[in-house]
Amino acid sequence: FDAIIIGAGLGGLLSAAHLLQRGKQVLLVERLPHSGGRFTAKNLHGVQVSTGAVHMVPFGSSGVLSHMLRRLNVPHRLYDADVFGSFHVHGRQYRSRGLLGVAKFLGPAQFRQFMRLGYVMFFQKLPDQQRQMPFDLWLERQIDVRRNPQLVAFFASISRFALSLELHQVSTAEVIRTTKNMFRYGAPAIVAGGCGELTRQLTQLVQSYNGEIFLSCEVLEILQEQNKVTGVRIKHKVTGAEEVLRAPLVVSDIGPRATTGLLENRRVRQAEVLKQKYADDHTFNDTAADDVQEAVGLKVHILSDISLIPHKGIMYCLDTKRIAGMVQPTNSDPSLAPAGKHLLISHQVIQSNNVEEERALALADLRFMFGAAFDQHCQILTMGTYRGEWPVNRVAQGEDVEPQLDVQGLYLVGDAVKPSGYLMVEGVAQSVNNFLDLLDD
Ligand code: FAD
Repeated sequence: FDAIIIGAGLGGLLSAAHLLQRGKQVLLVERLPHSGGRFTAKNLHGVQVSTGAVHMVPFGSSGVLSHMLRRLNVPHRLYDADVFGSFHVHGRQYRSRGLLGVAKFLGPAQFRQFMRLGYVMFFQKLPDQQRQMPFDLWLERQIDVRRNPQLVAFFASISRFALSLELHQVSTAEVIRTTKNMFRYGAPAIVAGGCGELTRQLTQLVQSYNGEIFLSCEVLEILQEQNKVTGVRIKHKVTGAEEVLRAPLVVSDIGPRATTGLLENRRVRQAEVLKQKYADDHTFNDTAADDVQEAVGLKVHILSDISLIPHKGIMYCLDTKRIAGMVQPTNSDPSLAPAGKHLLISHQVIQSNNVEEERALALADLRFMFGAAFDQHCQILTMGTYRGEWPVNRVAQGEDVEPQLDVQGLYLVGDAVKPSGYLMVEGVAQSVNNFLDLLDD
């Protein structure tokens, strides 16, 4: 092979498609029985229950991913949001067609501060010291946070939903860059057929170029000689057979922690990562064991008889204890759930290792927001946590690592190498653009 790609997630599939289009012989190795990683879905009672993403592409049909899919000729359709969003605040939902609609729930005094902050963030050049500051500290220096509680909650809920980070975990520079890109590219979109359809089309494209995909096959070791990558050792999970495959180029879609492990002939296991990351007192410990800081979350799939969100965008939750935001993707594509039913997905940052408490808080938030309608009309399908080696982002926004490793011919793609300002799958797509640029250099 000319190239071996570890992991058939979105990053691995996009990298494979590009290399194949350049005439390379490519092998994708995926340890699961299916491709797509955290950007696919399983059919549960007629509902597209996703393995990760909420069926949403952050920058919509004008974004980096959409542009890349068009360039690759991957059949797909994106339904851009029809509103800026809605906001659950003061015990009810406020719909906001454009950004200025936030005035409805902020009131005149907080709205004035909102406009001033917007001016500073978009049009002033901030000194480096302010740019490096965690965003919560920067906000404290700009506004009286006690007098502007909904304004603070506005930023917090967007950061929790879009980045899976609290405001103290993200730098001011990163908030500014991602916000600028949100406006530069446009509204988020729901993928027609859900994220599973998109990675299914990409998988078909890879196969149509005669790219090989080994499913249920795990890379056990990345091989190198004199600091140059030479291939991988793999294990076919069904037969148990091991095999050495050679290639001068290895692209890893599994993040720096697992990739480094494979270079040292060591498998990184989820249980060990969680043990190292969480102290006995149930608090999350960023400084523990290794310095890879991921973004962690909890997602709930809900099937409802009635519509609870009246638009195609995101409902940000400002007055909840945990849930940061929700979408109702069946507003864009009703086929994501059985006829007449509505799929809703909520997302929150998990703040401790006490998963039961995190779930209880999610449930309490849902009952608070939708009242009796929730118990009468809604059924919880799944409630899953995402952390360790299966997180929301393998490296937190703004902390991403370099795509090129010390070993020649070994590169990282995916959500551990998102360029600054590019979130979620837009970051994955942009990581692939960066990898291709590095190859051309
Ligand atoms: P992955 O999808 O994780 O792919 C890596 C693949 O490598 C996996 O398939 C894995 O099985 C395989 N693998 C691992 N180790 C090995 C090995 N040793 N050998 C072989 N194969 C291996 N993004 C959005 O844009 N919009 C959203 O709405 C959104 N919502 C999200 C909600 C949640 C709850 C979560 C968890 C994520 C969300 N994301 C969202 C993020 C998005 O899902 C990820 O950024 C993206 O899917 C990551 O793709 P990837 O290719 O980098 O990694």
